[in-house]
Amino acid sequence: MNERETDVLVVGAGIAGLAAAFAADRAGADVTLATKAERPEEASTWWAQGGIAVTRDDPDQFKQDIIDASSGTADEAAVDVLVEDAAEAVREVLVETVGIEFDTEGEEFDYGREAAHEEPRILHVNAETGKHIHVPFLNYVADETDVEILEDTAALELLRHEGQVYGALLEQDGDWAPTFAGSTVLATGGIGALYPNSTNPESATGDGVAMAALAGADVANMEFVQFHPTACTTDEGTFLVSEAVRGEGGLLRNADGTRFMPEYHEDAELAPRDVVARAVKSEREETGEVYLDVSTFDFAGHFPELAVKCDENGIDWTEGIPVSPAEHFLCGGVDVDEYGRASLSDLYAVGECSCTGVHGANRLASTSLLEGLVWGLRAGEDAAGSDIDRIEPPELLERDPDLPSNFARQKFGRLQRVMNEQVGIERSTDGLKRAQSVLRRLKGEVDAYVRTRTSRSLYELRSASVVALLIARAAAENEQSVGCHYLTEANSEAQTPEPATEQ
Ligand SMILES: Cc1cc2nc3c(=O)[nH]c(=O)nc-3n(C[C@H](O)[C@H](O)[C@H](O)COP(=O)(O)OP(=O)(O)OC[C@H]3O[C@@H](n4cnc5c(N)ncnc54)[C@H](O)[C@@H]3O)c2cc1C
Repeated sequence: MNERETDVLVVGAGIAGLAAAFAADRAGADVTLATKAERPEEASTWWAQGGIAVTRDDPDQFKQDIIDASSGTADEAAVDVLVEDAAEAVREVLVETVGIEFDTEGEEFDYGREAAHEEPRILHVNAETGKHIHVPFLNYVADETDVEILEDTAALELLRHEGQVYGALLEQDGDWAPTFAGSTVLATGGIGALYPNSTNPESATGDGVAMAALAGADVANMEFVQFHPTACTTDEGTFLVSEAVRGEGGLLRNADGTRFMPEYHEDAELAPRDVVARAVKSEREETGEVYLDVSTFDFAGHFPELAVKCDENGIDWTEGIPVSPAEHFLCGGVDVDEYGRASLSDLYAVGECSCTGVHGANRLASTSLLEGLVWGLRAGEDAAGSDIDRIEPPELLERDPDLPSNFARQKFGRLQRVMNEQVGIERSTDGLKRAQSVLRRLKGEVDAYVRTRTSRSLYELRSASVVALLIARAAAENEQSVGCHYLTEANSEAQTPEPATEQ
């Protein structure tokens, strides 16, 4: 692969990376977009179902809904940016420029409503919004702009010297070379590969967060990992059964057939995601199984794609869909400001790998595509002005090309077990301590190989081990049980009645 120079290097081609590349190109920059994906399905954006929230007549209520979902922890200034930019970004870029045809009812958009949204404000295309946004946006950037897209090309390391980023080392077909850039925009998505069950594509190994953290950039809110309560896992993999199914009347039942959610929360099946996820976990542990009863409404009529998905996976949905919680979204990430600027000069992060502060400790449904779009556009435009400089790139080695067979798979397996058991939906102080020591050892073993050998899978494993440790450490340091960070001892203390005092 050749050494390159570009004004703006964007890493990742989900909604956030595409928005950044689009905006930087529109601002007159020479843009290179590198994605390790070979197919659009390798981005979470493609898989989004419910839709993209937009601001309608009541921006204050939208803001309040986001803050409420975060248990009051969202950064108000960041939420203001999201709410103020939302309608125009969606209209101008997705609708008028890219030409996405969101579902309508008569002359109007058919705004959907999801749990914790006080009004219908979600634009969607069937229940497969992600692919209907991602594919046309990708095609638009490829065909209608001057952005150079490098597919199957992974960023391995940032080029950094004394607090400034100069681009990244890119790998393609086992060959690597530096790309020097005036600005570098990370848009690498989520961290699903750290957990055994995730709704994300397998390639979501947290590369952007790891590269930024290793280069010395600040990260924030890493303990807040959101689990979706109703994923369906089969031999073929994991797929999401959208909240909208519960919105239509789907009921959660345990192995005894008992509907249990009313016992856990007054909003029953429509309680906040973290509450439903813990309830599903607990009922599965107690009774062996939880399933979503969709006999209460016309499931195949409302969710034809999901009905087909069930059929393809050998699930007879008329008997109920077996569900369990799965990792879904990282609320934290590379700490950025309102233009996506990270703490290192000329480094930006956008989309799921960033922490804008919008989600705080928990994310409101359907705000993630919007955040990626809004911050991608802001960052891309801001990134367009920097000059390209060169530094001596780090030397990557190929001294020891043979890895023990199954090395990456075994280490990933161990990492996922620890994350699932100790850094998952429920955490304890002791468990987090144990997790950190296992993860530190594991990272040491991976680092030893990275010092002698360069391969994409090894770098992905390194990313996962760095990010896992960041999550475990942040979780151990936060003693407040809030949002997605649920500490068992804090809650058992809260529920245990005070012992009677002697009179
Ligand atoms: C099943 C599912 C349903 C969802 N439903 C919704 C919804 O209805 N509404 C909503 O708002 N959100 C939803 N979300 C969340 C939302 O889809 C994601 O948070 C969002 O799409 C993330 O966008 P992104 O651009 O940051 O990352 P992604 O779309 O994940 O894209 C990341 C890109 O980075 C590339 N990449 C990663 N590492 C490297 C590297 N080292 N080098 C080069 N390229 C790299 C990947 O190949 C990919 O192209 C859903 C998520 C899932 C998984």
